[in-house]
Amino acid sequence: MPTRLPIQQKAPLSRSGLSHQDAIILRRLRIGHTRLLNRKDPPQCSHCYYALTAKHVLLDCDYCRATRQRSFNAFTLKELFDTASTRDVLGFIRDVRLYHLI
Ligand SMILES: [Zn+2]
Repeated sequence: MPTRLPIQQKAPLSRSGLSHQDAIILRRLRIGHTRLLNRKDPPQCSHCYYALTAKHVLLDCDYCRATRQRSFNAFTLKELFDTASTRDVLGFIRDVRLYHLI
C-alpha cells in the first residue's frame, strides 16, 4: 500500500530562509512596487495624508514612528535594506498591518 505524503501546511522556504510570501513582500518593498502602494491613484496615508508609498511607510510616517524605531533605524531605503534585518522589516510591516496589502 502506498504511503501518503503529509500535506504541507506552509509554503516552502526559499534559499534565503524566507517563506515564499515573505520573499515576495520584501522584494516588493525593495523596488517600491506593491499592490497597494503602486496604483495610478495611490491612496493617502489615513494618518498623515501623504501618498501611501513604501518610502512613506518605511521611513517617514509619523504614525508608524514608534513601531519603526522598535524595529530599525534608517534614513534612506538603501540604508534600511543594507542594515536592517529582513525579520525586522517584515515584522514592522506586520505590526503596522500592511503585510497583506503589499
Ligand atoms: Zn503616514
